[in-house]
Amino acid sequence: LPGDIFADRRNSAGIDLSDPMVRAPLMARLKALESAHWRAEPTFPAATPGEIAPITMPHDLSAVVGTRRDATAEEIDAAFARAAQIQPGWDALGGEKRALLLEEAADLFEAHTDEFLSLCQREAGKTLLDAVLELREAVDFLRYYAEGARQRFGQPTILPGPTGEENSLSLHGRGVFATISPWNFPLAIFTGMAAAALAAGNSVIAKPAEQTPLIAALAVRLCHEAGIPPEALQLLPGAGAVGQMITADPRLAGVAFTGSTETAQAINRTLAGRDGPIATLIAETGGQNAMIVDSSALPEQVVRDVLGSAFQSAGQRCSALRVLYLQDDIADQMLEMIRGGFEALIIGDPARFSTDVGPVIDPDAQARLERHVARCLASERKVTRLPLPPGIAQGCFVAPTIVELGSIRDLSREHFGPVLHVARFRASELGQVIDDINATGYGLTLGLHSRIAETRRFVQARARVGNFYVNRNQIGAVVESQPFGGEGLSGTGPKAGGPHYLTRFATERVMTIDT
Ligand code: GLU
Repeated sequence: LPGDIFADRRNSAGIDLSDPMVRAPLMARLKALESAHWRAEPTFPAATPGEIAPITMPHDLSAVVGTRRDATAEEIDAAFARAAQIQPGWDALGGEKRALLLEEAADLFEAHTDEFLSLCQREAGKTLLDAVLELREAVDFLRYYAEGARQRFGQPTILPGPTGEENSLSLHGRGVFATISPWNFPLAIFTGMAAAALAAGNSVIAKPAEQTPLIAALAVRLCHEAGIPPEALQLLPGAGAVGQMITADPRLAGVAFTGSTETAQAINRTLAGRDGPIATLIAETGGQNAMIVDSSALPEQVVRDVLGSAFQSAGQRCSALRVLYLQDDIADQMLEMIRGGFEALIIGDPARFSTDVGPVIDPDAQARLERHVARCLASERKVTRLPLPPGIAQGCFVAPTIVELGSIRDLSREHFGPVLHVARFRASELGQVIDDINATGYGLTLGLHSRIAETRRFVQARARVGNFYVNRNQIGAVVESQPFGGEGLSGTGPKAGGPHYLTRFATERVMTIDT
């Protein structure tokens, strides 16, 4: 769209972790934050408090990072009343003023880098690299959607009036929006969905994942410090029951959700079955993401991109590589090289800079992944697992695993963790491979390593997928450059960090004046 490339805006510079002069003092400051105790509670707590749950570290369940106080039915009800009351005024403030507040929040986020990195590590089990990337993305979302508010939610667009009328179109918030966010990007996606809803003129009820409310509470606190009214952005921590009460409320105008496909479908049913406005659902869900490697690929590059796509973030990205397809004439050699890199992965405490693969989020996730690997072992598939290092028994660690399969058809669901499946194909079967990938019903990321332009065109034309990456890894979409999101079972669109996202949070109004 013309005007949607924000030429003056720059993504956050992040932190150069390769520079020891930067890294060493940063790690010392993070160490000092290890004794901090954090709290998450509803923005306007009622006199009768809800249940209190401890939040523990995924890599050491005996260490408590803070506490979560769950929102009660009374607090949810009062939050909706406040949010509904403030929304028209927040919308009337206009895009420019909302942009300035979101940009102020971005600056405050950067000023609180240490706290955010510490929480990413301690509450979500992220490595330092992932923590830095996460904060950058959150800041980028704030500034990108601020710019979108400024450009799209300011002056009305003047439309043609051939019969002498004056016609104009303006964008407005829909009303009260709920954001229901995941634990795998507890800062970036939490912030991105709330910032977009706010930028478009909605008031927001933000329900973070039950595992990661502390980082969300810090983000909300800084947004309030930036000047966003607390009634316009309210935090309601809690488990699934809180999300269910929020999505059943007839005052809700829309939901932005990121998480599992099953939960998105459940939210869709709840929204359809309740009274009130016909609510918008923006859902970004799972994937059964493949990478295809043909015999023209550069092996060293493939090894790096396969390991990064499958095992960075312990495989806990919805974009992560799940099924690697290797062309049969290079498969043995490629697998040997991949195993070489795989065996060098370092598993353990995310606070150590050398760690490549940290924990998975909680014991449930760990048990689900172990059940899957046990089934693969029982089915006599070839399974390679890394040994877990000693001294990590208190944490939710899953040994990185490679499982050889016949095809993607052998998997019935997404396995959200450090498990890479590998299948082989003959060059003549490429079309069938893509059809099999499409037939999963998911359509999030697809990787291709090929030096043949015709193959790239063929795959692009045939694959039904949101983000197609060629000759690189398939994770880490960058705000504005790689708008992110899938189709089918992977989500509704529009893409986060892309030019169409904000308008889905908005309603359009046209005024016609007979002159
Ligand atoms: N945007 C992230 C990426 O490109 C994935 C988001 C998610 O896991 O929900 O890796």
